[in-house]
Amino acid sequence: MKLRSLNRLLFLLCFNLLLIGPAFSQKKASDNILKIMKEAYELYKADKSGKNADYIPYLAKVDPNLYGITVVTAEGKVYELGDTNFEFGIESISKVFVLCLAMQSHTPEDIMQKIGVNATGFPFNSVTSIELQGKKAVNPLVNAGAMATTSLVKAENGAAKWKKINDYFNKLAGREIKVIDELYQSEAETNQHNQAIAILLQSYNAIYDNPLESCDIYTKQCSFGTTAKDLAMMAATLANNGIQPISKERLIETDHIPKVLAVMATNGLYETSGEWLYSIGLPAKSGVGGGIIAVAPGKMGIAVFAPPLDEAGNSVKAIKTIRYLSDKLQLNLFKAAEH
Ligand code: GLU
Repeated sequence: MKLRSLNRLLFLLCFNLLLIGPAFSQKKASDNILKIMKEAYELYKADKSGKNADYIPYLAKVDPNLYGITVVTAEGKVYELGDTNFEFGIESISKVFVLCLAMQSHTPEDIMQKIGVNATGFPFNSVTSIELQGKKAVNPLVNAGAMATTSLVKAENGAAKWKKINDYFNKLAGREIKVIDELYQSEAETNQHNQAIAILLQSYNAIYDNPLESCDIYTKQCSFGTTAKDLAMMAATLANNGIQPISKERLIETDHIPKVLAVMATNGLYETSGEWLYSIGLPAKSGVGGGIIAVAPGKMGIAVFAPPLDEAGNSVKAIKTIRYLSDKLQLNLFKAAEH
């Protein structure tokens, strides 16, 4: 063979390798995500530890054996395993996204000053923490702070505010999200403690709209029925710098992402947020409905659903599953990539 044709052959070979190489490694990465998800699923599916929340009667009745894992990458690839289409109460996970919405009309500094961003070290519905931390709601991810955050969402009246929240959640999830009426009724009949917190905040000028209406809208937002897939899509929007990975619509300002993730990192799992960050190293948020979302910035959003909770109100199986995924996929933010 002539030297020129040999050179051409070599050139074509290298060119093809350049084209096929990344596609091949992408395929390998996705095979790996699903493989690791399957390993975690097999490891924890029979785990019976924890107990459904029962202070909201509806939650006590949800099948404790349900278990679903969804990963959505920043590019919009979806990986699912188990009960990922079951609609359950979003509960506290809603707090993250109402914060994102409130930030559309309030600066990060406003949020720090009007609500606060410190960890409470106390349970999610603590009154003591409000008293101890300067008579403010403390942070947007505990009940007091979440109601104050809901009060900050700008709208003409309560109905318009609710519509704004619902429309925003629809865009984040990429489908129509509805309230589970039975859950909302169940919460509304038993939320006197939250109502008391809202009134307490009013007495300190630390809630910024009608307190009982804010409490009611907050109760409704907690009653959204979401699937693990919806929540992973919402988490992936945070991972993708605020752009919904499927619709490609910008839903969160780039500058707000590090602020929201910081609050999730320090407060996402209530009084056990430190333990979570110490062992998993990802911003996250749990809800008493049994869901937990975690965000690996630039990479993926993860959502796991399994109703039985630990003492602090976090899904036991979801914690174990996300710890496994974070370890095996090397997602821990505090760990530099190996070269
Ligand atoms: N709606 C629940 C409450 O206000 C949410 C609590 C949670 O998920 O942590 O108690």
